[in-house]
Amino acid sequence: MKSSKQMSNRLLREKKQLKAEVERWINIIKVEPKQIRVQRMVQKWASCSSKGWVSFNIDLIHEPQKFRDYVIVHELLHLRIPNHGKLFKSMLNAYLPEWEQIVKVRNKRSARKASNKKC
Ligand SMILES: [Zn+2]
Repeated sequence: MKSSKQMSNRLLREKKQLKAEVERWINIIKVEPKQIRVQRMVQKWASCSSKGWVSFNIDLIHEPQKFRDYVIVHELLHLRIPNHGKLFKSMLNAYLPEWEQIVKVRNKRSARKASNKKC
């Protein structure tokens, strides 16, 4: 059994890694969230608030890289476009041309559908 100290070290490392990935996309998409949080979330992979906060589910760290990218890009784009309309989809296509395929593969792999958890 792992000690709680080891566990929290691992959690810190995972949070740091996920945050670094979010920051990489922030530079690419050029958005300015006021706060980035990485935390345990039950219902969602990510969420954003009208105040410009974005939150990501720490469980993403155990998902494939591509799916992580999709969730991160999706959420950061909400800082620009609050809905899932045509413009939103064309932005997703611009940054992540294979996003539809990524979601399809993710949904096939697990009963826990991506669409059930996304914002
Ligand atoms: Zn969304």
